[in-house]
Amino acid sequence: MAFIPVNEPALNGNEKKYLLECLDTGWISSEGPFVQRFETEFAQRVGRSHGISVANGSAALDVAVVALGLGPGDEVILPTFTIISCAAAIVRAGATPVVVDADPHTWNMAVDQVEARITPRTRAIMAVHIYGLPVDMAPLLDIAQRHHLTMLEDAAELHGQTYRGRPCGSFGDISTFSFYANKHITTGEGGMVLTDDDALADRCRSLRNLCFQPQKRFVHEELGWNFRLGNLQAALGVAQLEQLNTFLARKRAMGQRYTEGLKGVAGLQLPLATTDYADNGYWVYGLVLDAAVPFDAAEAMQRLKAKGIGTRPFFWPMHEQPVLHKMGLFAGDKHPVAERLARRGFYIPSGLALTDAQIDQVIASVKEVMA
Ligand SMILES: *Cc1c(COP(=O)(O)O)cnc(C)c1O
Repeated sequence: MAFIPVNEPALNGNEKKYLLECLDTGWISSEGPFVQRFETEFAQRVGRSHGISVANGSAALDVAVVALGLGPGDEVILPTFTIISCAAAIVRAGATPVVVDADPHTWNMAVDQVEARITPRTRAIMAVHIYGLPVDMAPLLDIAQRHHLTMLEDAAELHGQTYRGRPCGSFGDISTFSFYANKHITTGEGGMVLTDDDALADRCRSLRNLCFQPQKRFVHEELGWNFRLGNLQAALGVAQLEQLNTFLARKRAMGQRYTEGLKGVAGLQLPLATTDYADNGYWVYGLVLDAAVPFDAAEAMQRLKAKGIGTRPFFWPMHEQPVLHKMGLFAGDKHPVAERLARRGFYIPSGLALTDAQIDQVIASVKEVMA
């Protein structure tokens, strides 16, 4: 049987039509009309005033952290169980990342550990929604308000989802998204910064565009980046956004089919379908091996590969990153849940092009590996 890749996107809407429009009109750069259209429509979908598209989700974090004015002497609290982009943006801005462990059930940041990590230098919280369920935002926002902290929300993995009925990505003073090929909607590579704050939006637009000045274009008061998104990517984004509701429904059906097929299998922790504040959107379908299972995630992934099933390991915690240790960060930090997730967790094929027949084949293979 053919190999089942861990992710394959679905590109069956207006993608081709809009891309051809770019070619026919000659608009391929960031000056093209799809860029603003994508920014406006995506911001509207999340209920925010401004969308600033960028080259990718990591760039969105870089822009957001600098736009918020975070820098040397400032501490930012974030989950240890996340992608390097989050910590990298903080470190590159000269600020200091401070991490909390993961919740063993939702795999999101342990909100109840945040307050203990606050010091007089703490300036911001970076909330990162992980794998399909949002962070428990209400208590986190309460902490932020009481301690006068800025909230940065990384919603890269939760397009179109809600927390207690309100769109994910609408909570932070600033929020970020990625449109990498494995996200719910994709532009191949791409990202977006969202905010309701006019001044912050202007700052993000400037930072993504080399901090060119309107009056004296080639005279710079500040260093920015060229993180612009092109019209071709934005054309894909507009077409993908039209399908977001369908995509989300499909992701949920896929997650339910996996859970139905795997719920009896001994030794596996499956994703929670729901919490009291949100339903799982199954950005990816993760599995965590119980302590009693005599092999680790790396071994399980090897065995699945031999059966033609693509997988990915879970995130490796920030407090165990060699590059961050070399900078003197996280000495002595211990976060047992994230450490266990990293070694016992992996995810199985979760892309939108996956068929029910393929899902059933993955289920059968996982059962064989666990038997
Ligand atoms: C994918 C992702 C990113 C990075 O996005 P890229 O577009 O790959 O740079 C950042 N944060 C989270 C939580 C992600 O899942």
